[in-house]
Amino acid sequence: MATPADVAAFRATQTDVVTLALAELAEWWEQLLALLTGDVPVGQIETFTADLVAVYGDAAALAAVDWYDELREQADVPGRFRASMADPAPPEQAAAVARWAVGPLFGAQPDPAKSLEHLSGGVQRLVLQPGRQTIADSVDQDPADARWARVPSGPTTCAFCRLLASRGAVYHSEDTAGGLATSYHGTCDCVVTPVWPGEQEPYDVDRYFEEYSAARAKAGGDTNAILAQMRKDLGIN
Ligand SMILES: [Zn+2]
Repeated sequence: MATPADVAAFRATQTDVVTLALAELAEWWEQLLALLTGDVPVGQIETFTADLVAVYGDAAALAAVDWYDELREQADVPGRFRASMADPAPPEQAAAVARWAVGPLFGAQPDPAKSLEHLSGGVQRLVLQPGRQTIADSVDQDPADARWARVPSGPTTCAFCRLLASRGAVYHSEDTAGGLATSYHGTCDCVVTPVWPGEQEPYDVDRYFEEYSAARAKAGGDTNAILAQMRKDLGIN
């Protein structure tokens, strides 16, 4: 069973990969701006972003594959199975993030700092994506009846992630929770964690469920209203 320490250690590996990717991005961005004379080279930014998230996304997926296999061995799950690495974010997806992120460079008052902030959030999400996908895909392919949970991690967790965490280890296929289960915002540091039958989730699911239930009792059944209530009650994003 994954312990909170296992989750924290895995999160540290993923954070290290993101840190390296963002450092490389920031350095490249600085050079790009220093040399910039005419038009913004959007194509070049798209290509750089795609290459960056492919390289670091592979590192994230490699760590995830090892983590899955280790946890499965610890769990003593019957039957043989080995996790396989998910592909990095496709170049088109990375290019779309880059095009969106450079928006603040255009217009009357170009804001390169805002652009880099957007791009950094997008790069973080895309670098982590193959690691999360590796765990989710492996859960689906695992002949043992595995599930995964969105385990909150880091100093703050947003209402959306808390809502998904409140359900515990229920996530199985892509379409669980209408696709919401596999959405992550740029700075999300939640850890997709596999859980096998008979195991406990490595976090306090009840606490999140109580928060959710309290908000639902006040706000009614609409998900957006519940999220708004949670933000208000908990003073979070
Ligand atoms: Zn999150």
